[in-house]
Amino acid sequence: LQGHEEEEILEGIPVRRDGKTRAWVTAMYGCDNFCSYCIVPYVRGREKSRRPEEIYQEFRSLVEAGYKEITLLGQNVNSYGKGLEEGVNFSSLLRSLDEIDGDYRIRFMTSHPKDASKELFDVMAHSRHIPHYIHLPFQSGNDRVLREMNRKYDREKYLSLIRYAREVMPDISFTSDVIVGFPGETYAEFQDTLSLIREVEFTNLFTFIYSPREGTRAARMPDPVTYGEKTKWFAELLETQEEIAVRRSKRMVGTNERVLVEDRNQKSGLLSGRTGGSHTVEFSGEDALIGNFAEITVTDARGFQLHGELIR
Ligand code: SF4
Repeated sequence: LQGHEEEEILEGIPVRRDGKTRAWVTAMYGCDNFCSYCIVPYVRGREKSRRPEEIYQEFRSLVEAGYKEITLLGQNVNSYGKGLEEGVNFSSLLRSLDEIDGDYRIRFMTSHPKDASKELFDVMAHSRHIPHYIHLPFQSGNDRVLREMNRKYDREKYLSLIRYAREVMPDISFTSDVIVGFPGETYAEFQDTLSLIREVEFTNLFTFIYSPREGTRAARMPDPVTYGEKTKWFAELLETQEEIAVRRSKRMVGTNERVLVEDRNQKSGLLSGRTGGSHTVEFSGEDALIGNFAEITVTDARGFQLHGELIR
């Protein structure tokens, strides 16, 4: 899977809510991509987009009800609109939702690099409600492995998207999914994944050791590297990402951030909020802030855990 939104789609419930703060709206169902390791297209069927008017009404009622963060969901949101008469795409959907007045954030997932466009990044850069943040799964940094995965983009296409996004949003934060030990992947090919991670400097990575899904093409591919060996590669990847995350967190010390306050960490007793770029920041404050936006200054970074002080 390229995202971690599977459960919401699986339930087939258009709106999921978390208290009064966050809600999720399904934009589209299914997937046409047939990545060779993934079972989703077989079990969920073909892509089907919901009508833009339906999404708009649902979204607007959530904003009016006071939700602060609304996430649009789909296995492959960037191909939204295919097959609809309205002549819409994901960028135009985002643009129309962004016009709704209110104090809220729009998030979306999952984006597929094959369909992510400059237009999408332009819409994000000019929007009022979309944070400069995208979850853009790359899965592998090696072209041969990407071809075997049937991902339909190569390393250069992925990096060119990253470069363009940074050009129009210098403060953009990226997260991604990565698979380690795809059948037939060599250690040298895995090194291409590490070099891509170093080049992009992701905020966070969702990392998986390859595990076969019955019925998929990849499950029938020869897989000579042992699980024990893959575990070592995986540890190397985690170490690389941790160094990057710590470095990135340190760079944020002294900056001001707008966070959505999610809850109180029972262990530390501090409030916990999330920045637009998806960093978690802890700071002291009243319970009344939970479920609202707050301005903080980042005062300290321990590991990738950020600490801050409330401005207002
Ligand atoms: S884009 Fe690929 S990984 Fe994601 S759901 Fe579709 S087939 Fe699976």
